[in-house]
Amino acid sequence: MHDQQDSGQRFAVIGAGVVGLTTAYHLAMRGHQVTVIDQAEAPASGCSYANAGIIAVGHAESWAGPAAPRQMLGAVLGRAPSVKISKLLDPDLWRWGLAFLRHCTARAHATHSDAMARLSRHGRRMLQDLEQATGLDFDQDHDGAYYLYGDRAAYHARVKSLSDGDQGFVPLSASELTQRDPALRAFEGTLRGGLVSSVDSKGDCHRFTQALAEWLQQNTTVTFCYGTSVTGFRRAEGRVQAVQTPSGEIACDQLVVAAGTGTPALTASLGVRPLIYPVKGYSATYTILDDSRIPQRPFVDETNLVAVTRLGDRLRVTGIAEFAGHDSSPRADRAAHLDGYVARHFTGAVDLDGARHWAGLRPSTPSGRPYIGQLRNTPNVWLNAGHGQLGWTMAAGAAQVLCDLVDGVRPAPSDVSETASWLKSA
Ligand SMILES: Cc1cc2nc3c(=O)[nH]c(=O)nc-3n(C[C@H](O)[C@H](O)[C@H](O)COP(=O)(O)OP(=O)(O)OC[C@H]3O[C@@H](n4cnc5c(N)ncnc54)[C@H](O)[C@@H]3O)c2cc1C
Repeated sequence: MHDQQDSGQRFAVIGAGVVGLTTAYHLAMRGHQVTVIDQAEAPASGCSYANAGIIAVGHAESWAGPAAPRQMLGAVLGRAPSVKISKLLDPDLWRWGLAFLRHCTARAHATHSDAMARLSRHGRRMLQDLEQATGLDFDQDHDGAYYLYGDRAAYHARVKSLSDGDQGFVPLSASELTQRDPALRAFEGTLRGGLVSSVDSKGDCHRFTQALAEWLQQNTTVTFCYGTSVTGFRRAEGRVQAVQTPSGEIACDQLVVAAGTGTPALTASLGVRPLIYPVKGYSATYTILDDSRIPQRPFVDETNLVAVTRLGDRLRVTGIAEFAGHDSSPRADRAAHLDGYVARHFTGAVDLDGARHWAGLRPSTPSGRPYIGQLRNTPNVWLNAGHGQLGWTMAAGAAQVLCDLVDGVRPAPSDVSETASWLKSA
């Protein structure tokens, strides 16, 4: 661990989700004084609370692509079981949606997916480094994942798309998969094939973020202001001098906004409007009753767009992309969709009646790439926000990339950030 250096600057980090906390960790390791501010009373109370828990390198793909406009049309017409549009007349959704459509070419899809994959691989490596340095325990393992297909054509298309650089993925037929992991018999009759990945990990993002906050409190000078909503900034000479809150000002030399879906509202007063839309997702968590019936690795059911992960003695099942503005309340019909999936495949293996349902807002950009960089008009303000469906996967890597930029070092990987005229990015 670095000693606090005299050269360290005072950083304020807005957001105590997984992105804000990994950023605080990297800043502290580089000798800076860090204050983390969050409106919630505890870390990981937003989108980082109950996600699928997969460090999903194999899922690092932009949602925008040639097939997406048809899928979105299906969602508008109410015909897509996993994509829902509940606030069609939201002007922010239209602004976001038009940018999303511009990214739907094959070329843009390939470029964005490549950037997301590189950042995701880096994120997994950085998470493992962080884990070694801190010894944190968060129901993690690095044994990979399955990607399962109930549609033969989609399976073959995925296998065909694997390039020489994708050695971490082994395609297997349905019978090979069930031989390898007997619990996958739960999908017998519908499974057409899948990939076994060795480049994915899993872990409880909420446990990790909480444990990291405690570790930072015990081992560094990072301080935390919970229950503190940031309402504005005091500016002078083109720089933010202090963060304003109802209980007073917090002075800073540098500011990192890592506020997930709260980011655009915060930066609006600085004249900057990042395209981050809240895409609601749902999770259900069940106590496991019969361990032998739970697949050994986490998996993504690519046909039903559901992700399933064992976290200790719990099974976490997630899915659905709903465009409903900032309303994060879980709707009963969406929760029932997940319960129905679990009832079809895992009845008797988990306690269905004791399900704990949750909904969270993915901070999603049109391309899928997060904003990582510095505001051109206010150079002491940095953004690390908009990690969408892959925030847990990318967080530790994105934090390191941001801190390299802060230090004036060309980050590796580079060219992973969303680009914007107002952002000096990585
Ligand atoms: C159902 C579901 C499943 C998912 N599964 C996965 C997965 O398997 N793998 C993966 O990689 N990712 C997954 N994700 C995505 C991942 O959870 C998110 O990308 C990630 O949690 C975003 O982290 P964050 O720190 O940017 O945002 P958050 O965790 O939302 O943190 C932002 C924080 O900023 C605070 N804040 C906002 N505005 C203010 C303000 N004005 N003042 C003070 N504080 C403020 C909020 O209170 C919040 O705590 C999933 C998401 C969902 C919804």
